[in-house]
Formats: sequence, C-alpha cells, structure tokens
Amino acid sequence: MRIGQGIDVHRFSEDPHRRLVLGGVEVEGARGLGGHSDADAVCHALADGVLGAVGLGDLGRHFPDTDPVWEGADSVALLTAVVRMAAEHGFACVNADCTIIADWPRLAPYTDAMVERLSTVLGAPVSVKATRAEGVACLAVVLMEAV
Ligand SMILES: [Zn+2]
Repeated sequence: MRIGQGIDVHRFSEDPHRRLVLGGVEVEGARGLGGHSDADAVCHALADGVLGAVGLGDLGRHFPDTDPVWEGADSVALLTAVVRMAAEHGFACVNADCTIIADWPRLAPYTDAMVERLSTVLGAPVSVKATRAEGVACLAVVLMEAV
C-alpha cells in the first residue's frame, strides 16, 4: 500500500468567459479560476496525490504549463492519464478523499456529481467534502495498492 497527498490552489480569473470546473463538474453561475488548463483544482490535487503515492513526481513535471498542448485542457483527461501512468507502474487506487476549500460559490449541490465523476476516473471510491475559506484550494489524499 502507498499513500500520496496533493494540494492545489487557483485564484479566480479576471476573464468573465472562463467556466468554473471542479472535480470534472461545471459549477454554474460562478467565475472561473485562472490557469493554463481548465484550472480544475480538485483534479490537480488528486493527480498529484496519485503521482506522489507511486513516486512519479508532480503534475507540473508531466504536464508543464509552458506546453501549449495543455492550454485550456480538460483536467479529467490529465487525471485519467495520471491513473493510467500509475497502472503502468503496477498501482491501482484503493480510495481517495478530497477537501475543497472555497468561500464561494456554495459547492454542496455539486459534490455528489464530483464523487460520481472522480470515482469513475480513479476506479475507486472518492469522497469530496467542501469547507469555507478565501480563494479556492483543494487537498487530496490517495491510497494506492500494488496490483
Ligand atoms: Zn491546478
């Protein structure tokens, strides 16, 4: 068994056209986050947790934000690629637990959809909790087992 943790923080974007996507789910009526990809802090924290557990470095090493390929990228695709990378190294997810820290918007109506989406991507139970503080950040721990 291996455990990994991930943390990711994004500021809100000045661009009124950016969508807010967290855990692969669009949060309606909210300002988007700034970033090179779609700035999905939940997917990024989870991906860093998976990479950390397997000892594969961090997300920035595999998907550099200087690479135009990842501009506006769907972070569920990044997370899927990371889970595949872990599988190639002989590891599968056991479970993951995420805490999203955001003062606004209210995320409670969206967490069930995030759980469903992320559990499918990881192939293991994922829990998503939300708590309040300024900005948007996400913490994740991921347990992996050798398969
Ligand atoms: Zn990020």
